[in-house]
Amino acid sequence: MPSYPDLDAKKDALIATARRCFDVGLQTNAGGNLSVRLDSADAIVIKPSGVGFAECTRDNLQVVHLDGTIEPSEHKPSKDLGFHLDLYRVRADIRAVVHCHSPWATGYASAGLEIPCLTVQTIEKIGRMPLIPLSAAGGPQTEVEISPVFRDPKVVAAVLANHGTIGVGSTLMKAQYLAEIIEETAHIAFVRDTLMAAHGKTAADLPQYGTAADAREAVAAG
Ligand SMILES: [Zn+2]
Repeated sequence: MPSYPDLDAKKDALIATARRCFDVGLQTNAGGNLSVRLDSADAIVIKPSGVGFAECTRDNLQVVHLDGTIEPSEHKPSKDLGFHLDLYRVRADIRAVVHCHSPWATGYASAGLEIPCLTVQTIEKIGRMPLIPLSAAGGPQTEVEISPVFRDPKVVAAVLANHGTIGVGSTLMKAQYLAEIIEETAHIAFVRDTLMAAHGKTAADLPQYGTAADAREAVAAG
């Protein structure tokens, strides 16, 4: 394999991010995948098929060129290699991709519901999380369904029906943070929707005042 000066650093960043994704419960078993673009070549480092997020090592990660050429490896390439490569081809600002099957978000996606950007953080960091349907043949989403959504440079996160989520960013940790925010937002949305249904509410009826201090001032002013 040719030597790439930033290869070990990128592998180590991927191993750390994968470990975090596993530790926070966003991905169990050997599903999901994540990748990062090298600065020293038109190539990426990606988790192979059949290796869990907690089991990534410098030895089992694969190097794949953007033209699809895979550097010699004893592992099978990820089933999702195609959409990872294409995301890097269509958006120069995408330098890392985290794809996982986190349960709250995937539950929304499998119900055909777009996860609402409910929180101030989701509005600021994501804006919108498009829901991408299965491929026309009914199989997992590929670059055919995914890349057109990400051609919009404002899209940084998406949810895959019956499958999982995608976060992209300039670094692995930024992509990982988005994967976490997607899942957190789905969890919050579920709690809100469940409570509203239990209380027969169709509107949130949020407090009139933004903060307790605002409310005290308003009351004092009569
Ligand atoms: Zn997947």
